[in-house]
Amino acid sequence: MKKNILTGIRPTGNLHLGHYFGASRNWIKLQDNPEYDFHLEIADVQALTDHFDDPSKVRENVYELAMDLLSIGLDPKKVHLFIQSQIPEIAELTVFYSNLVTMARLYRNPTVKTEIKQKKALFGNEGESVTYGFVGYPVSQAADITAFNGELIPVGEDQLPLIEQCREIVRKFNSIYGDLLKEPEPLLSSTPRIKGLDGSEKMGKSLGNAIYLKDSEEEISKKIMNAITDPNKIKKDDPANPHICMVYYYHQLIQNPNLETVCEECKKGHRGCVQCKKELIQKMNEFLDPIREKRKYYENHQEEVEKILKEGTESARATAKETMKKVREAMKINY
Ligand code: SF4
Repeated sequence: MKKNILTGIRPTGNLHLGHYFGASRNWIKLQDNPEYDFHLEIADVQALTDHFDDPSKVRENVYELAMDLLSIGLDPKKVHLFIQSQIPEIAELTVFYSNLVTMARLYRNPTVKTEIKQKKALFGNEGESVTYGFVGYPVSQAADITAFNGELIPVGEDQLPLIEQCREIVRKFNSIYGDLLKEPEPLLSSTPRIKGLDGSEKMGKSLGNAIYLKDSEEEISKKIMNAITDPNKIKKDDPANPHICMVYYYHQLIQNPNLETVCEECKKGHRGCVQCKKELIQKMNEFLDPIREKRKYYENHQEEVEKILKEGTESARATAKETMKKVREAMKINY
């Protein structure tokens, strides 16, 4: 019997290298594992917790994200790719589960705590920026997971508290209404944090330091030419330290076969930064070309993307409907 895997991504922008090397590349591997039935949710409702004042942005990003995912090799024949907002059973479960968790417990959730801190730092005032929907998003995640009988959830270490929160809700539900829901297990995968072009510890849209999978050759060239290198290398033939240089970091990331030479020549001062950046631009374009080519296909066949999302959502909804029926029976609200 196949195990159900569920994961999700918020449609808040296009995929960049941070997403690709962080998690999405792993999804492409998981979809080929015959032991798993893989559900991938485009979490547009969750994206609204931050973008409720401009939902058109979220809508646009749903299709953008779907195209990015298909371009990196996500196969809709192997994965149920679906849109969260089109499955009302998730919203229904969220309401029922909201009675099974206290506000105090949600505020204690380390992931929520960290995000509240970040909002506070950004807006200065928690009261104005932290909504009920935001604090309650782990409840909505528990609904996402259980609607599709999620048994294994691919996560990084930092998301473990969200899985634990879901397990608690499941245990509470089962203790009151009977043993119906499965407690999900985390499927810990290494989701390395990818550094930005500016040397920041994290690549991110808001930080303006990202390389997007859909970037054109011109955009790549401009971004890499501005990447941070060893600040002590002033002249072309100054020896430098590649390990503090973002250009070298990206040579490594995309596995430039010439890596050893880059390192040696940099250390000996036998390579100038402009030459080194030009080489990276060429290698980066070679790396991105097959993704761009696929994306172009989907950009020219939007109706195919819509069909994939429609069919994925229909198949996922069938499972959610079954779960909802059982939940209503267990709660004796199946009038
Ligand atoms: S030569 Fe290359 S690796 Fe060395 S500092 Fe310049 S850009 Fe970085």
